[in-house]
Amino acid sequence: MLYVKAPAKINLTLDVLHKRPDGYHEVEMIMTTVDLADRVGLELREDTDILIHSTNNFVPDDQRNLAYQAAKLLQERFHVTKGVAITIDKQIPVAAGLAGGSSDAAATFKGLNELWELGLTIDELAELGAEIGSDVSFCVYGGTAIARGRGEKIEHISAPPSSWVILAKPSIGVSTAAVYGGLKLEDAKHPNTARMVEAIETNDYDKMCGTLSNVLESVTLQLHPEVSSIKEQMQRFGADGVLMSGSGPTVFALVQTEARTTRIVNGLKGFCDEVYAVRLLGDR
Ligand code: ATP
Repeated sequence: MLYVKAPAKINLTLDVLHKRPDGYHEVEMIMTTVDLADRVGLELREDTDILIHSTNNFVPDDQRNLAYQAAKLLQERFHVTKGVAITIDKQIPVAAGLAGGSSDAAATFKGLNELWELGLTIDELAELGAEIGSDVSFCVYGGTAIARGRGEKIEHISAPPSSWVILAKPSIGVSTAAVYGGLKLEDAKHPNTARMVEAIETNDYDKMCGTLSNVLESVTLQLHPEVSSIKEQMQRFGADGVLMSGSGPTVFALVQTEARTTRIVNGLKGFCDEVYAVRLLGDR
């Protein structure tokens, strides 16, 4: 069995520039990995079956699974005559704005590149990833990057200043389509992406916290007011910066000390069941 780590990502910024003629939104976002990860196990099969097993009941175990789609794409594109049994030990909350499924797909690409001896480069895997989903290319590289286009054009940047990250996922489902649908670009508060890049490159933690911004946040907050109360709670207990990741509903807080991390985690008890205290990873 080959094991590959599939870390979650958060958005330090997320901007939507415009809607494209092809229906996709042109985005510009800074993403970085955190040390909350699924573990993807891959076992070679001598037949051509692709089997999926996950520890989480909300994760599909068929062709809807992004890890399945990643395996199928490689198998067809490179005429592979072997199969694989994929086990996903799910630690990343599902449908949370943390790119869990995309990261599983990226881990599957990397694992199968070895298991099926495909000899593909990381750039080739990232390019194939874009065919599965907008966040898969970033997940293939990990680290910290500005993602543009649909999210598949990756520019690597330095790792952000080190920090604790408290992730809190309210138990509500957010429809990404509804959030994008509710976005009014003219009235939206756009992030200052260049300033965030500066903050990261100069290792300026305070500036990073002061520049966290997500154009989708106000839309999701309007649809789901409970996300607001989690943000307020995190702020009240001393977070240096608080932001929603992706289209939500997960909200994260940045803090420098373990003591403050514990205070925020305790402060969220009763407000939110799924709370994780992790570290920014940021390096590839
Ligand atoms: P993103 O941040 O990229 O928008 P997300 O964190 O919001 O992603 P995921 O956890 O990737 O969302 O899952 C969204 C949906 O995709 C789930 O409801 C599930 O049905 C489906 N899905 C497919 N494959 C997976 C997988 N490997 N892990 C989790 N969900 C998956």
